[in-house]
Amino acid sequence: TVRTRIAPSPTGDPHVGTAYIALFNECFARQHGGEFILRIEDTDQVRSSAESEQQILDSLRWLGLQWDEGPDVGGPHGPYRQSERSEIYQAHSEQLISNGHAFRCFCSSERLDALRAEQMANKQTPGYDGHCLHLSTEEVERRVAAGEPHVVRMKVPSEGVCVVNDMLRGEIEIPWEQVDMQVLMKADGLPTYHLANVVDDHLMQITHVLRGEEWINSAPKHMLLYQYFGWDMPHLCHMPLLRNPDKSKLSKRKNPTSITFYQRMGYLPQALLNYLGRMGWSMPDEREKFSLAEMVEHFDIHRVSLGGPIFDIEKLAWLNGLWIRELSPEDFARAVQAWAVNGDYLKPMIPLVQSRVETFSDLLPLAGFFLMGRLELDPALFKHKKLSEDEVRQVLQLTLWKLEAQRQWSKDSITACIQFVAEGLGLKLRDVMPLLFPAITGQASSVSVLDAMAHLGPDLTRFRLRQALE
Ligand code: ATP
Ligand code: GLU
Repeated sequence: TVRTRIAPSPTGDPHVGTAYIALFNECFARQHGGEFILRIEDTDQVRSSAESEQQILDSLRWLGLQWDEGPDVGGPHGPYRQSERSEIYQAHSEQLISNGHAFRCFCSSERLDALRAEQMANKQTPGYDGHCLHLSTEEVERRVAAGEPHVVRMKVPSEGVCVVNDMLRGEIEIPWEQVDMQVLMKADGLPTYHLANVVDDHLMQITHVLRGEEWINSAPKHMLLYQYFGWDMPHLCHMPLLRNPDKSKLSKRKNPTSITFYQRMGYLPQALLNYLGRMGWSMPDEREKFSLAEMVEHFDIHRVSLGGPIFDIEKLAWLNGLWIRELSPEDFARAVQAWAVNGDYLKPMIPLVQSRVETFSDLLPLAGFFLMGRLELDPALFKHKKLSEDEVRQVLQLTLWKLEAQRQWSKDSITACIQFVAEGLGLKLRDVMPLLFPAITGQASSVSVLDAMAHLGPDLTRFRLRQALE
């Protein structure tokens, strides 16, 4: 049977790119009467969070995707969370070492940094130089016994060309000298993506790997690992990445990328999924509007075109409008209600608004901005007692940049960002706040704007700041 998977890393907001790749994996599996698996790749302990994992599962399910096996639904090949599979990777790493396919490396990060700097200065491809490749068994054992920190690296041929077969691209040639002696196990005893991914795809009996083209360069390492273990390699299919309208890789710096943003803005899940299906793929009859079931029925991976598909919010909004107009009045009412009374979204707002209203109808002017997309911005609201128009722009721009780089999103971290910007410009927090109120809420004052930003989330906050800068 055909088995495909989506393997998200829970390191941030649920990305539309993840949904796009998941959709194609599900369609491919269903079309062949196969199975579609969800696996959580959380080996990066610092960046992974349970919250992000939950959001990814919720978002993909909201879209209508359905996996046959996964951390939440179980299945015969679990656990489906890599952080619960450490011993498996440990054992496989030991196997590679004893078969001579991998080696322990004791190099310090100082040595590796210096090596890298030297290679860059000499315009060489940066990569490990094999320093620990030939340590004697006795020395390795002695240093391990002494508790010296080390990683495990894979051996890689130094010459020749690796030929990767891709379902859409045919043969891709990558010279081995460009492939680094990849770290497989980190000093903390956890695997890197490469080892965990290959071991799990094999143990979970994945037959086809459909993933973003950013992973093409990893394919030679993976091929080698399959060979070292003596396993068959799944078929590979690298999908074109989603792009901004200016053709650059879709990024949160230019477009909202989080599925939750589209949910909050009131897109229909069927329409968003339909739009993702239109990314680089088309129905044989070229129709624009189709359901997941229709996509599965007519699916053909060879209809994927490799030119970078452009994720264009205006086109998405147009398609969403088509879907909305075709809903029955009852379904429309139900969908609006599910959206507006989305308890999880509204709950954190209650403490912000309850003490400030006398009637429910006061809620709209006070808190309508929580539910709105674009705001009507009155330029007069951005007039500042102390700052010139240029300085006002500077404050908003720097705040936007600072927040774009922000990984962790909470009231405290947002406050710290704004404080940083204010101090950098020789201002006080209270000089900056009067600009944030109109940018975020469209009003001169409102509920706590820091709480509001925390609650609106990164995508909508950035969207508003970009709008204020237009
Ligand atoms: P950053 O904005 O910091 O560069 P990112 O947008 O690349 O980050 P990641 O957190 O690295 O986001 O990726 C999250 C998931 O979304 C990954 O599985 C990645 O493959 C997928 N993804 C990211 N960008 C795209 C894209 N342009 N097209 C398709 N999938 C993408
Ligand atoms: N965890 C990887 C990601 O986040 C999976 C890549 C793959 O599908 O091999 O994109």
